Amino acid sequence: MIQHDVVIIGAGLAGMRCALEVSKDLNVGMLTKVYPSRSHSGAAQGGIAASLGNSEPDTWEEHMYDTIKGGDFLNDQDAVEEYVKAAPRIIYELEHMGCVFSRTPDGKIAQRSFGGHSKPRACFSADRTGHAILHALHEQLMKNAESVKIYNEWYMHALIVDGDRCNGVVVSNIQTGEVEVIQAKAVVFATGGYGRIFKITSNAFASTADGVMAALDVGIPMEDPEFVQFHPSGLYRQGILFSEAARGEGAYLLNGKGERFMETYAPSRMELAPRDIVARAEQSEMDAGRGVDGKDMIHLDLRHLGKDRIMERLPQIRQLGIDFLGIDCITDCLPIQPTAHYSMGGIPTDKFSHVILDEKGTRMNGFFAAGECACVSVHGGNRLGTNSLLDAVVFGERAGKSVLEYAVGIDYGNVNEGQEKARVLEKFEDVFQRDGSESYNDIRDEMKEIMMSHCGVFRDEERLKVCLETLKGLQERFKKGKVTDKGKVFNTEIYEILELGNMLSVAQLIATAALRRKESRGGHFRTDFPKRDDENFLHHSMVFATPDGLEIKPKPVIITKYQPAERTY
Ligand SMILES: Cc1cc2nc3c(=O)[nH]c(=O)nc-3n(C[C@H](O)[C@H](O)[C@H](O)COP(=O)(O)OP(=O)(O)OC[C@H]3O[C@@H](n4cnc5c(N)ncnc54)[C@H](O)[C@@H]3O)c2cc1C
Repeated sequence: MIQHDVVIIGAGLAGMRCALEVSKDLNVGMLTKVYPSRSHSGAAQGGIAASLGNSEPDTWEEHMYDTIKGGDFLNDQDAVEEYVKAAPRIIYELEHMGCVFSRTPDGKIAQRSFGGHSKPRACFSADRTGHAILHALHEQLMKNAESVKIYNEWYMHALIVDGDRCNGVVVSNIQTGEVEVIQAKAVVFATGGYGRIFKITSNAFASTADGVMAALDVGIPMEDPEFVQFHPSGLYRQGILFSEAARGEGAYLLNGKGERFMETYAPSRMELAPRDIVARAEQSEMDAGRGVDGKDMIHLDLRHLGKDRIMERLPQIRQLGIDFLGIDCITDCLPIQPTAHYSMGGIPTDKFSHVILDEKGTRMNGFFAAGECACVSVHGGNRLGTNSLLDAVVFGERAGKSVLEYAVGIDYGNVNEGQEKARVLEKFEDVFQRDGSESYNDIRDEMKEIMMSHCGVFRDEERLKVCLETLKGLQERFKKGKVTDKGKVFNTEIYEILELGNMLSVAQLIATAALRRKESRGGHFRTDFPKRDDENFLHHSMVFATPDGLEIKPKPVIITKYQPAERTY
């Protein structure tokens, strides 16, 4: 049995920042199913928010209000306050760690505009911000190399719990297929989002809900799964992201008639309204037959920005257009459509990153979560651009501090190694032995298709019911699939099947919670209930897996400074 004081699952910004904190005093095992630098954080382009006020005067109060209004008042405001207050310190820390930020002419950290932010507060490294921060953190972590072991290309299967205490994880080495138990005094999940359940998504292949589902398996609910963010500028039919930084720098959105249609939907903020509003505006234009060439396509127009600005501020976006479409945005418009981008819901935590077991906030001992897999909830019903990298770093650090408070000086808990291993081996064997007629690839494609068309930007009761029925059918077919690779070494087929199992489950949670929430708020829009309904739905959804199926309980929203108000832009 492997032992570490603390085991962290995930090596994106949240996992890295947490490891950096914990490894000051304790021994850490950090596990990632892809190489750390391939974590989805590395794909983040546009920026990280903080009220530095380098371009225009700005305050944490304004950042707080924008975040809450952007989240349609579902955010827990005590957590938001601490998070936005921490932001400037976090940026300067990253700067001192060696993160290379773009600069103003007088040498300050430059800040650009982003959707829903009333001030330019996105700090950025051209359009490769996630990459720059991830590498800076990774380098820093190497300083603590004696107290950190990174398990590259290892897969976490399950949590080990004893009563109300978490004592480790069951994992396997993807290279050899060997299953191992890691005993730990504390476990941190930083496993990222789950956008891969949708046909059109900006998310990396690793974003498959493994963490959320492992937590659900041991009785932890999932908070607010119905809130999924669609980003307005995914590459047409492929979903690859063109950062909001393009619009932050001044790009236009045009419909098939060449009109800047945001005039109709958000006249004061235009292209820089929050993402949920812009994505719905695009979908409405396309549904009304005003897409470009009559297709589900909108144009992102950067031409007026000029070559110099594009080359300085948006070089990666330009390259993506050239590589994937042969289109140069200096001279031509880029074809885009809404793409599934961010999971506001996740493993419920309090503002100290302790995982909670119920709607009353009861803590699970020894289990922490941070980053996109967690729901604190600082983003409420819709996350503003550049607030997520901030979330990952702020709560990665916070999880680290909470882990140190909890785990220094305590003993290891009980782990029955044989039993824990057998549980996962049985699951492996079950999948290996399947010799049915169903294709897992077909099941995955059909899941993605139905989630996009029936549980996407626009939802209604009828579509959600069809979606749930379809998912039920896919779950049945999933049991009758066929595995072609029976080997153990780098058997990526097996891991993809396990991931598909997790995705089918999280899809069901999303659609179930979406069906129950008979209102429209943030990223969740019901055409049959187009208004926000604070009287009946100003609460978080806590979804529990029970022997009788999924059960949803409300959890109160914490409101401190700002009472819910109408959300107009
Ligand atoms: C294309 C794109 C651009 C974005 N741009 C921005 C931006 O400009 N600004 C902003 O604020 N936000 C942006 N976001 C959102 C932001 O990047 C993410 O929300 C954030 O980086 C998530 O960080 P994380 O550490 O929580 O997870 P991730 O970076 O996704 O890392 C997850 C980690 O968990 C590991 N993992 C998962 N499951 C397992 C398992 N079963 N076993 C072992 N390891 C596992 C993975 O290997 C990985 O290391 C963007 C997102 C995308 C997709």
